[in-house]
Amino acid sequence: MNINHVILLIIDDFRYDHFISLLKENKLPNLGKLKNNAIWGKSITTFPSVTIPAHLTIMTGLYQDSYNIPLMQWYDRIQKKIKNYSVGLQAFEIYEDIGDIETIFEKINGATCNIFEPIHRGALYNYPGKLKAIGKYLYYKYISDLNKTNEIITNRILKIFKNPRKFFPNSQGSPPIFCAGWFLATDMILHTFGVDSKEYLASLQSVDKAIGKLITGLKELNYLDSTAIIVVSDHGNYTAKELYNPQLDFKRYNLFPLQPKKGKGDYDIADGSILALYLSGDNDKTFKTESKLRNYKNKIDVIEVIKNLKGVKWIAFRSDNISNTKGTYIFLRKIREKWEKAYFHYNDMKVRYEPEKLDLLGYDKSKENHKWLDYEKYYTLDEWLKYTHDLDFPMFPDQIHRNFMNKNSCDIFISSMAEIVYNSVHGKVKNNYHIYAHDVALSCSMQVPLLIYNPNLKEKQIPFSKTSDLVPTILKLLNYKIDPKLPGIDLINKKYN
Ligand SMILES: [Zn+2]
Repeated sequence: MNINHVILLIIDDFRYDHFISLLKENKLPNLGKLKNNAIWGKSITTFPSVTIPAHLTIMTGLYQDSYNIPLMQWYDRIQKKIKNYSVGLQAFEIYEDIGDIETIFEKINGATCNIFEPIHRGALYNYPGKLKAIGKYLYYKYISDLNKTNEIITNRILKIFKNPRKFFPNSQGSPPIFCAGWFLATDMILHTFGVDSKEYLASLQSVDKAIGKLITGLKELNYLDSTAIIVVSDHGNYTAKELYNPQLDFKRYNLFPLQPKKGKGDYDIADGSILALYLSGDNDKTFKTESKLRNYKNKIDVIEVIKNLKGVKWIAFRSDNISNTKGTYIFLRKIREKWEKAYFHYNDMKVRYEPEKLDLLGYDKSKENHKWLDYEKYYTLDEWLKYTHDLDFPMFPDQIHRNFMNKNSCDIFISSMAEIVYNSVHGKVKNNYHIYAHDVALSCSMQVPLLIYNPNLKEKQIPFSKTSDLVPTILKLLNYKIDPKLPGIDLINKKYN
């Protein structure tokens, strides 16, 4: 296999179990065909399972401990600014916000292109570009058909392969080394209609058709043999039972949403089953550890407030014992109406999980997994992946650590375990909000499909992978050196035992 080009296609909001069942029903014929010549299987995405940071991991090979963005929506304590990449042109701030790390585009010398992918720093050709982006989005969402964006991606890639000189005047006529494309319609349609809707299925089928045309087109141009096509998703999804406004419960303790411009309020949270809570009403510019959380503004025990928030199933926060290299996080989970406790101890990037009484992550439910689980042992990311990829809370001890290591990380993580979507977004309450969501640490939201296709590959199902393996895999396919500091592993040569 001699690969000169890699095309990475991200289908937004696509669960692994859903992928498998749709293939069995032959509803995605082109992806089904691709699978016959692919290394494929399940991949575990980044926690929380939302578009940002999931795309950041796919496009940089790193996690929140390395890039400065903890979430899609977060509170910048220093600038006193609410960040929400789903609003207006804020997604373009990601460019600067990620900090001093490299995207896959920046690792590759030569012609690279991006169609719609929000993490595109370093892409030589970028479509549709900052000015056009919002206009296009509004046009397809409100006037045309969102699914039409699917074919725009693959048609544009084919155009670039057909006439590279036009897009890369200095490329001497060779097509791009690396291309990324983001199929965004599936996610927007899912949030509106849900995972079992005909609309969502039609959107996936429209992606499948576009990918089919891309394969045919590349074959006609004689580039298929030398191109690897990677298909992945950023996260899965779930259907919550209800919406609830958490502000009502906070208000009972005289806690009000932050209004940074007015210099008022106590806390910031944004929607979902996972809430990242920032307490900054006392102008403290660092995160808070347990003793401060238990005595916020010298009077409120915020942990107790959250325990009484409707529908809360687990809470995670920093203990007072933390440093850059060693420390402990506290994890509380409500089991049969009683709050139980566990600890995550970290030693550099290895993490030990120590329940006080019960296993709160459900890891010991599986007989096979019970054999490995040693509460005395510190495990690496790949060890957590190996042992927990099939369970809820996959890689969770590692992922919560990486998020808490982020300099912009929240004070407390709160989750309703996909039962309630909290519909408060930075102080505003969204009624008629979607109950079709994603963000949780459950397998439905964390497991996504992954295919690495080339017509000369023999089908090989791999038992597990993680989305941070993609950057090393792409680099390996293109004969680039892989930075040993990357947490991922090249999946072409990875040995599973
Ligand atoms: Zn997404």
